[in-house]
Amino acid sequence: MKVCDYIQLAAPGIQALQPYEPGKPIEELERELGITGIIKLASNENPLGASPRAVLALKGALGELHRYPDGGAFELKRALAAKLGVGMNAITVGNGSNDVLELLARAFVPPGAEVVFSQHAFAVYPLVTQAVGGRPVVVPAAGYGHDLRAMQAALTPRTRLVFIANPNNPTGTWSPRDDLQRFLRAVPPEVVVVLDEAYFEFVNEPEYPDGVRWLGEFPNLVVTRTFSKIYGLAALRVGYGISHPQIADVLNRVRQPFNVNSLALTAAVAALEDDEHVRASAGLNQRGMRQLERAFRAAGLDYIPSAGNFISVEVGDAARVYEALLRAGIIVRPIAGYGLPRHLRVTVGLQAENDRFLAALAAALDADGAARP
Ligand SMILES: *Cc1c(COP(=O)(O)O)cnc(C)c1O
Repeated sequence: MKVCDYIQLAAPGIQALQPYEPGKPIEELERELGITGIIKLASNENPLGASPRAVLALKGALGELHRYPDGGAFELKRALAAKLGVGMNAITVGNGSNDVLELLARAFVPPGAEVVFSQHAFAVYPLVTQAVGGRPVVVPAAGYGHDLRAMQAALTPRTRLVFIANPNNPTGTWSPRDDLQRFLRAVPPEVVVVLDEAYFEFVNEPEYPDGVRWLGEFPNLVVTRTFSKIYGLAALRVGYGISHPQIADVLNRVRQPFNVNSLALTAAVAALEDDEHVRASAGLNQRGMRQLERAFRAAGLDYIPSAGNFISVEVGDAARVYEALLRAGIIVRPIAGYGLPRHLRVTVGLQAENDRFLAALAAALDADGAARP
């Protein structure tokens, strides 16, 4: 049979898509370099690993692999509802919070509708927008962060969805309570605003808002969070949205019936109860962040102050520095695709991992005087 041009046959928005580029897996670099002892600081994973309680609960769930998961995610929704002080009908579970972001686009963005988000914002926003034939409206950032007034000015009668990452990945920038509240009050109720709080549990800023508190005031608000970051369950893929029950109802209609698997559900419930693991992870992150900032300042490197568990630092020719770090067995994240070709994003690791990264970074910058910013 004749092969035709299947790219041309794809829906127009999908033809133009750039696939998401994940952090390089450790095993891949091991194969390429034939070395071990590789450090990955590329995907904002928890360097302490998963909650030990979650791991224990998982072992107990292995006998039930032949059963379909609970499609209604009853135990997880009950635990989340109790913790967040919302009804179970406000919660949408996803195969990672990325899944919830995609459900939102599928549910609320008809072809040609506009989706507003910031320059340098999380790469999944343009992906899910284009995949459904929506029109991305990218608003220039201010000081690397979201310019909420400009985003407000970008709303039109065609706007259906707004994505706000708070804090944003890869910049780590965040919007304070008053600014966000002003923005939410200015958005018409028929425009759904997604407040992506993937790093919520890491933030230690008095002016940082808890989006869930606003759900009563703003029925068009959807807050998304994840078990991939502080809870250390990235491999299992589980996240959730919290919204007005009608929005949750809509998302439930487009969701795959078993979008979150049994192991993920079990581990998430156990992780949610492990306050000690969350506290330890946040504490480690704060110390590691100070360690990295101090070293960057001492080296005269500019960085973007971050409220998350990662930080983007300006290194000059970032592609070359990235390659030099790889050869030293350290995986970080180039973010040229986010419009930041002079920066690298590094996840805060264990103290010894941060030390090794900083030493390798200094060596890479010294070896290549031209790369110095
Ligand atoms: C990591 C991340 C997510 C969530 O990823 P999942 O693993 O799919 O839950 C969502 N938004 C931002 C900004 C992130 O950095």
